[in-house]
Amino acid sequence: MQQNVTGLHHVTAMSSHPQRNVDFYHGVLGLRLVKVSVNQDDPDTYHLFYGDGKGTPGSAITFFPWMNMRPGYVGARQVGVTAFSVPKTSIPFWKTRLEEAGLHPQQEERFGDPVLLFSDPDSLLLEIVGTTNDPRPAWAESHVPQEHGIHGFHRVDLWEKEVGPTREFLTNVFKATQAEQDGDRTRFVFGDGLPGQVVDVIELPGRPSGHMGVGTVHHVAFRTPTPENEIATREAVVASGLQPTEVIDRFWFKSVYFREPGGVLFELATDTPGFDVDEHAEKLGEKLILPPWLEARRSLLEKSLVHFELPNGVSFPV
Ligand code: ZN
Repeated sequence: MQQNVTGLHHVTAMSSHPQRNVDFYHGVLGLRLVKVSVNQDDPDTYHLFYGDGKGTPGSAITFFPWMNMRPGYVGARQVGVTAFSVPKTSIPFWKTRLEEAGLHPQQEERFGDPVLLFSDPDSLLLEIVGTTNDPRPAWAESHVPQEHGIHGFHRVDLWEKEVGPTREFLTNVFKATQAEQDGDRTRFVFGDGLPGQVVDVIELPGRPSGHMGVGTVHHVAFRTPTPENEIATREAVVASGLQPTEVIDRFWFKSVYFREPGGVLFELATDTPGFDVDEHAEKLGEKLILPPWLEARRSLLEKSLVHFELPNGVSFPV
C-alpha cells in the first residue's frame, strides 16, 4: 500500500472554559459539536470536537478546555493560524457576524483570496478565507445559513524559524507540492490543492519559540485515509530519521504523532471509522462519550467535569 497524505484531518487547540468555547465555535462560527469526550491522558478535562454535520476529516477542530491553564505564547515551532473556508461572496456576512460578536476581523488578501484574520475569545488566531473552489457542504442545520456556512478548513500556517527543513519534509515524506510563494509565506498543497489540502509555511527567523497554553494549537493532524496508508506513511517518517509514536487507537480514527523537523507537533489520522462509530449520526455530540476503560469512573468524572450547555438545552457532563 502506498503512503498517501491527502490533506488536513483535524486541528487540536487549548481553550479556557468549555462554555466560552461552545458559545464561539457552535454559536458564532455555526459548527456542529460532533463529539463530547474527555482527554484520554487527563480525563478530568473535556475533549470537544466541532465540524461539519458529520465531523468529516478536514472540518474538525477540537479543544482541550483547561480551566486553570495560563495563556500560551504563539511563536515559532507551532501552528500560528488555523484557517476555515467559506464562499467568497460570504466574506461581508462573516465580517458583520464577527463584529457583532465583539471581534475585530482584519481584512487581508492571500494569493488572491480575501481573508478575515481574527482571534477567538481565548486569543487563538483564526482566519476565514473566501474561496470559489470548495465543494464540501456546510452543516445544513446550523443557525448560520448554509449558503454562508463553513465548509471545513482552508489551511494551517506553520510558523517556522526557517522554511528549508519543513519544505524537505513536506515534499519528500508527505509528497506535498510546493505552490506559490509570497515574501515569508510558502504554500504547499496535497492532491488538487483544494481548500483543506493546503499548508503555508511562514518563515519567522526572529520569532521566539511558542509555548503551549490557552489560545495555542496543540497539534495538527493530516489525513492518511486508510490504516494501511497510515502505516506506510509512518514508515516513511521513520525512514526520514524522525521518531513517530506507535499507532494509537482513538476510536474515531487511528493516530501517530511526531515532531516535524521544524518542531511542530504533527499527527497522522485515518479517515475511518469516524464519529458515528459510537453514536447515531443524527445524535452526535449529545452525550458524554468515554473510552471503555474510563466507563467504570463515569460517575466520578461526571462530578469533576465542569458544566456547560448548548442552545438546544443539551447540557454536560449530564
Ligand atoms: Zn489529534
